[in-house]
Amino acid sequence: MVDPLSLAVGAGLVGIGWVCGRFGHRRKTRSEAKPLARCGCGHDLALHDRATGTCHAETSRKGTHGLREWVRCNCRRYTGPTPLEEVFSSPILPPES
Ligand SMILES: [Zn+2]
Ligand SMILES: [Zn+2]
Repeated sequence: MVDPLSLAVGAGLVGIGWVCGRFGHRRKTRSEAKPLARCGCGHDLALHDRATGTCHAETSRKGTHGLREWVRCNCRRYTGPTPLEEVFSSPILPPES
């Protein structure tokens, strides 16, 4: 007789391992293919203001009269990953004399 509890635990462990391996692998291949610095709003890091963090990108949508209208992205802060070169190349400006 197989204990139904241990059977369930075993199945659960297999499931967890499968999920971890799947997502870990996917994330790895994605970053290797193209290191994108993309925000949660879907726009590039370059489109975000460095000082305020707001997104400068514009998205088109259908207006009330069927006309295309452009609206500023309502993103207020960049939430995506920061590229390494971005961190190391951040300029440390000397105080102005
Ligand atoms: Zn945006
Ligand atoms: Zn954004």
